[in-house]
Amino acid sequence: MNNEILEQLKELAFSRSIPFCYSCYKEAPTGCCKHCGSDDLMCLVPGVGCEYGTDWVIKHILETELTAVDLEEEFEESIRQCYPEETQVGWMTFDTVRLMKENDPIGWQCALSEYESQEESEGTIVSFDSGSTYYNFSTLEDFFKNTHNTCFQKSSTPYSP
Ligand SMILES: [Zn+2]
Repeated sequence: MNNEILEQLKELAFSRSIPFCYSCYKEAPTGCCKHCGSDDLMCLVPGVGCEYGTDWVIKHILETELTAVDLEEEFEESIRQCYPEETQVGWMTFDTVRLMKENDPIGWQCALSEYESQEESEGTIVSFDSGSTYYNFSTLEDFFKNTHNTCFQKSSTPYSP
C-alpha cells in the first residue's frame, strides 16, 4: 500500500516537473534531449530546483501541498477520549493528560511511540522519510483524487455532450 502511494507520488512528480538535460542546459519535455539524444535527464521544477531523481520533487509536493500529521496532538486527543478530562488527587483537580505528561514524561513518550507504530502498521499513517514525518492515509487519498482530476484531464476520455 505504501508502494502504491509512492508510485502515485512518483507519477505526480513527473507530471509536475520538466525533464532537463544538464549537459545541454535545455529542457527536454519528450524525455529525450533533442540536442544530444540523452535520456539521462534531471527533473526541473521551475522556481524550485533542478536535480536528478524524483525524491526531492516528492518531498517538495508533500511539504507544500499536504499537511503532516501532528501525532502527539492526535495521541493526546485519543487519550482524552478514553479517560476522564480531569483527575482528582487528594483535594486537587488536574487535567488528566497534563498530569500524565508532567509526572511521567518517559511513560508518555513510550505510549506515544507505541501509538505511532500501531497507526503505521494499521496503515492509518504513512511516512516517506522513515518516520520523521507522517501523513494521514486518507489525506493522501483525497489529495490524489483531487490532483488526478485536475492533472490528468488531458489524457482522460475527451468530454462529449
Ligand atoms: Zn542534451
